[in-house]
Amino acid sequence: MKYLVTGGAGYVGSVVAQHLLEAGHEVTVLDNLSTGFRAGVPAGAAFVEGDIRDAAKWLDDSYDAVLHFAASSQVGESVVKPEKYWENNVGGSMALIGAMRAAGVRRLVFSSTAATYGEPEQVPIVESARTEPTNPYGATKLAVDHMITSEATAHGLAAVSLRYFNVAGAYGAFGERHDPESHLIPLVLQVAQGRREAVSIFGDDYPTPDGTCVRDYIHVADLAEAHLLALKAAAPGEHLICNLGNGSGFSVREVVETARQVTGHPIPAVVAPRRGGDPAVLVASAAAARERLGWNPSRADLKGIVADAWEFAQKTAEEE
Ligand code: UDP
Repeated sequence: MKYLVTGGAGYVGSVVAQHLLEAGHEVTVLDNLSTGFRAGVPAGAAFVEGDIRDAAKWLDDSYDAVLHFAASSQVGESVVKPEKYWENNVGGSMALIGAMRAAGVRRLVFSSTAATYGEPEQVPIVESARTEPTNPYGATKLAVDHMITSEATAHGLAAVSLRYFNVAGAYGAFGERHDPESHLIPLVLQVAQGRREAVSIFGDDYPTPDGTCVRDYIHVADLAEAHLLALKAAAPGEHLICNLGNGSGFSVREVVETARQVTGHPIPAVVAPRRGGDPAVLVASAAAARERLGWNPSRADLKGIVADAWEFAQKTAEEE
């Protein structure tokens, strides 16, 4: 099969592109390198440096499906620059979906997020839960989910939106690297490497067992496997939405403690004020992904996830 992977130079996109190549598929990566890295494009994939808004210029019916990762994805930035998020995420996706319609490419897997739910009324979160995003990032991803539903109904698109919880870990040469870094696990590992003095714990007065936020961490390789299954899951005219998480939560303090054990470094942590827009607990029900996709994650252990991220962080530091 031949697939277009938008955002395939970024963290999740590159791991999925690599899995597609390993499964024997033909892959084209489309990425404007605004946040991705040229080195993130897996060997063996064709690379087009360009914007999703220009996909109509060359997308044709030789493609069997599109896997769409290209997006702006920083929650904090989306609060101060919402226009960038509406333009890139919603405007960009609209152009891409239009190009797919024009070219007759009728299968899509979309990278959605737990941020579409906002503050949950119940955990674990099921896909039928209320969607009331607490930041523009989540709002734009939810808008694209709605866009995809109507495209499927009106024009026969077969689509799956995968709502990621906290993606972490690494796969071979591909791992998490943001500039500036804002995610908990890579930040904690930077402290272990001596690149930062301490990690800030954003709030310790949440209604959770140790007062710090609880998240559902999922290994990027398990996540990638769900995308390959999702390519076969929807019928024409159907839009499936599935959460991807492990169904168990870990607090910020537990993540820091796990990283201490994995790295053998003390990793000083200091309590800081809460970060705006952070729900206390986000844990997925992954029942739909198991049932509808036949997904069976095998790397749920937090220690293993952090160990893979640590190996990648050390490799990257050597290269810098
Ligand atoms: N967090 C923290 N210190 C940091 C970065 C993150 O305490 O330096 C917390 C954050 O408030 C959240 C959790 O760690 O509760 C995971 O944050 P991250 O940004 O990794 O992912 P998010 O949950 O926002 O998608």
